[in-house]
Amino acid sequence: MQLTSCRYRGADRIGILTGTSVDLISTDGKWPQSMLALIDAGPALWSALASDPRSALDRRVPLAEVELCAPIPRPRKNIMCLGWNYAEHVRESAGNRDAEVPEHPVVFTKNTTSVNGPYDAIPWNPELTKELDWEVELAVVVGLGGRNIPVSEALRHVFGYTVINDVSARDLQFRHKQFFLGKSLDGTCPMGPVIVTADEIPDPQQLELRTWVNGEIKQSSSTRHQVFGVATVLSILSRGMTLEPGDIISTGTPSGVGFARKPPEFLKPGDLVECEILGIGRLRNPVR
Ligand code: ZN
Repeated sequence: MQLTSCRYRGADRIGILTGTSVDLISTDGKWPQSMLALIDAGPALWSALASDPRSALDRRVPLAEVELCAPIPRPRKNIMCLGWNYAEHVRESAGNRDAEVPEHPVVFTKNTTSVNGPYDAIPWNPELTKELDWEVELAVVVGLGGRNIPVSEALRHVFGYTVINDVSARDLQFRHKQFFLGKSLDGTCPMGPVIVTADEIPDPQQLELRTWVNGEIKQSSSTRHQVFGVATVLSILSRGMTLEPGDIISTGTPSGVGFARKPPEFLKPGDLVECEILGIGRLRNPVR
């Protein structure tokens, strides 16, 4: 299923994207009314929805009549993010062809308030940052919580996958040493356009991901080049730290980011940045 959080006639709804329509989930009280409530409901309800979506259907509306929001507009916790998780990106960041990939995953977080819709504007404020950069990433949404999850079991804990643009204020990121501030400005986490449930992506290490700025390709890679794959990342993060339903883990960006280009390139007002993962969808965010 391609699950969406959306706004329809002024109300926040969840639905299933089916081509050019959205099947809105019923408000009769039997079905969850938010993506987090749907995830919390657990596998029995997910299977019921997948096997008989019509039983949950309120109405089918044209996609053009709904506004797609971030699938989880307000996560309960910060989004956990991997740094330097593609070898080519490690090398471009270090400016060194021989730079070595990290021995252990580099983990930081983005504030929940940074979440932005799949087509909404990314705020540009030169008093805050002059170095706004793009990062297309595969994000994992946890379905079943757990602690000390073995690699072999890890993918069973995934609810689904979505696309995140980990927009980064490089000047803030490097000036403050820790990444948190530079990664957490309002609107710098476009997410969506849908969550594709895990059953439809049996192998998360075979996904093509791309970024365009004003139609020009900037990033193009595959998750098969990740240093730490999804199952390994889930296993390592869960060592002594409980992962919970609805947690979001963004698994790092491939090469082609702006700051590592020669000369460096950053987003400016009027730009359109698009981030796509084949099989999930494309974010389309103007910079304003
Ligand atoms: Zn990132």
